[in-house]
Amino acid sequence: MRPDLPRPRHGADSALLALYARRAVPRYTSYPTAPHFEKNFPEDIYRSWLAALDPAEPVSLYVHIPFCKQMCWYCGCNMKLIARYQPVRTYVDNLCAEIALVAAQLPARMAVAHLHFGGGTPTAVHPEDLEKIVRTIEALFDFTPGAERAIETDPRTITDEMIARIDALGFTRASLGVQEFDPTVQAAINRIQPAALVQKTTEKLRAAGVKGINYDLIYGLPQQTEVALCKTVEECLAMKPDRVVLFGYAHVPWMAKNQRMIDEAALPGAEERAAQARLSAQALVAGGYQPIGIDHFALPDDSLAKAAREGRLHRNFQGYTDDDARSLIGFGATSIGRTPFGYVQNQSETGAWARAIEAGHLPVSKGLAMSVDDCLRGYVIERIMCDGAVNLEAAAAFFDVEPDWYLPENEQLDILQRDGLITREGARLTLTPAGATLARVVAATFDTYLLRDRARHSVAV
Ligand code: SF4
Repeated sequence: MRPDLPRPRHGADSALLALYARRAVPRYTSYPTAPHFEKNFPEDIYRSWLAALDPAEPVSLYVHIPFCKQMCWYCGCNMKLIARYQPVRTYVDNLCAEIALVAAQLPARMAVAHLHFGGGTPTAVHPEDLEKIVRTIEALFDFTPGAERAIETDPRTITDEMIARIDALGFTRASLGVQEFDPTVQAAINRIQPAALVQKTTEKLRAAGVKGINYDLIYGLPQQTEVALCKTVEECLAMKPDRVVLFGYAHVPWMAKNQRMIDEAALPGAEERAAQARLSAQALVAGGYQPIGIDHFALPDDSLAKAAREGRLHRNFQGYTDDDARSLIGFGATSIGRTPFGYVQNQSETGAWARAIEAGHLPVSKGLAMSVDDCLRGYVIERIMCDGAVNLEAAAAFFDVEPDWYLPENEQLDILQRDGLITREGARLTLTPAGATLARVVAATFDTYLLRDRARHSVAV
């Protein structure tokens, strides 16, 4: 069934909204965003941040595995193709050494609330290497009762042995890169993956005891049409994933060289792209999924959907989450961590990352110590992205700053209100339905770093 065409929203002018949608703005998985982290960030500062963590507060862990067995043309991740396995094994050894190095800086044996394996393709490592990493973590950290263990998988390459190991290692959630089922699109992005394969992998993971299944879909791909994407959504609905993330393809071939394999003439235009986003979102909602933030959907009884309804949603480098830990420790090349004091990012080049660890150093490359202003703006941006509303004076009271701190932004907020993206009641700002799809644009009003490098970000829709 094809979803209804969208209706005009709140009288907002559609041509105007299309202009907003073309603005280059960050995805705000952090604030300040990663391009503003300082280079050559001192390792000693990160050591002091780790040592100052509250031992009573659980932390979250992110483990980055940058390896893949095949290259997708649309990929924008930090990944390496596996030509032979020995470098992967060496990477795993260094990863375990890094985990031990970081754990030694902590004030106590810390509890973990969320563990996430991302990539690349974490399931591209051998099952015994995945086990080695998890057992290293278990030897150095405790897990809170009901802690989530999540892993990103590739349905094309995951083996039955790996699925059994994922179960044995207590993983509770797996995400599958689906993207699009249309064969023409799959050929154009070099990712051949029939729907039946995704269905089979989903069934196997569920049978193995993995309760939470996430699918990632992408709109704006070469050769993609509204009809094809809506058919993909329909096929996904039949497989009943617990969560779906609907990303917009970001074509940045000057940064991701593999994207030069994509025929730019086959990319959908801005209007087609916006229609794909809108129609597929409508199809997911019609299929019983709760929309969450700008691009997530979840079945109403999923923990993310509950967190959204209860105002407990957060945003981190993996997107929306119900994880409320204030600290996220990243392991692996290029991984980003966050503490209450600021952000750090590891060396992105695996050689430099490995050399630092072998020399007994934390492999930090970039970072940023948060000022009070960063914390305040980060909070406001996160609430806009998660709740679609924020009280600017209440935020000021929380961070102990002047209640009218946002006066310099007032003119811009007036314009957003005039254009139908927000409503304002006193200091409370709320996104309209039209503004909800453009939450990144509204959030950007509070981003003092953005004017310096607007060109580096993808379009808002
Ligand atoms: S899209 Fe995923 S599976 Fe494909 S190359 Fe990138 S990281 Fe690997």
